[in-house]
Amino acid sequence: MKANVDSDLCIGCELYVNLCPEVFRMEGGKAVVVATVVPEAAETTRKQAEEECPVDAISVGP
Ligand code: SF4
Repeated sequence: MKANVDSDLCIGCELYVNLCPEVFRMEGGKAVVVATVVPEAAETTRKQAEEECPVDAISVGP
């Protein structure tokens, strides 16, 4: 599973950068995805990020 962040939507709240650093980090005030493939151990927080992002900027793909 891959994660994506829509940088046009992201407001840089940093919500999941601290909770899920295996997948997200901040770059230029926006979240970017650092994991090409989300590690299985990070899948729960990755899912939470997708659900709780205030602007629905996070999506997942195959
Ligand atoms: S939770 Fe959403 S708005 Fe906040 S930094 Fe992450 S992608 Fe951006």
